[in-house]
Amino acid sequence: MTMRLDKLLAHCGYGTRKDVKALLKRKQVTVHGEIETSAKRQVEPDHVRVNGEKVDLPPTDVHLMLNKPAGYACSHNPSESPLVYDLVPDIWQQADPKSAGRLDRYTSGLLILSTDGQLLHQLVHPNKKVGKRYRVVYEGDLSENAVKRVAKGLPLPDDDRPCLPAILEIHGPDPQGRGRATMLIHEGRFHQVRRMFEALGAKVVELHRDRIGNLELPADLPEGHCRELTEDEIDAMT
Ligand code: URA
Repeated sequence: MTMRLDKLLAHCGYGTRKDVKALLKRKQVTVHGEIETSAKRQVEPDHVRVNGEKVDLPPTDVHLMLNKPAGYACSHNPSESPLVYDLVPDIWQQADPKSAGRLDRYTSGLLILSTDGQLLHQLVHPNKKVGKRYRVVYEGDLSENAVKRVAKGLPLPDDDRPCLPAILEIHGPDPQGRGRATMLIHEGRFHQVRRMFEALGAKVVELHRDRIGNLELPADLPEGHCRELTEDEIDAMT
């Protein structure tokens, strides 16, 4: 694949096209071992060196899983920091992956980031029916028939459409006596699980996503860390 030298170097993180021109002018770039100063030269990336070093092409598509800690915003807006993107190492940040939907600032757990718009769409669009499972700690008592109401499609007071049918499982209380449950949903409305619990008469105090499709958050991925997804893991979600 040939491309213009200035475009290639800008793509590989050597700054703007203007910065790249300055680099060329300083004779720091070679093509086939010969100094090259023309920004327009068509090159194969393999033949280009900057200060004698091969250029590293950023990977074309990047798919990551992040174990999001509570407290980080799914946003690019610095005024909302800390941001989940601060947790993504530079090598992947250059490719500018986007999150598949959002987790609230105080929700933790599995977050997918990808540069592939089609994959992002598949993970978030309700028609694709990709399940997202949340572990919930709540205060208060769930209304009678909560499991059935959720299974039928729970109406929310501030939404004109009921939620899609979802699966609520109620577990025993935690050591502090707070309720514990899991909720499996197939859509991603704003604050959906928190609002569903509110509609059922309880208040979510901790929310953690531990599964998307058939992909579970791996126990060996520490909080605040991310890693690339394998092909099998992408298949497990879609
Ligand atoms: N539902 C919520 O209320 N918050 C999230 O972050 C995800 C699902």
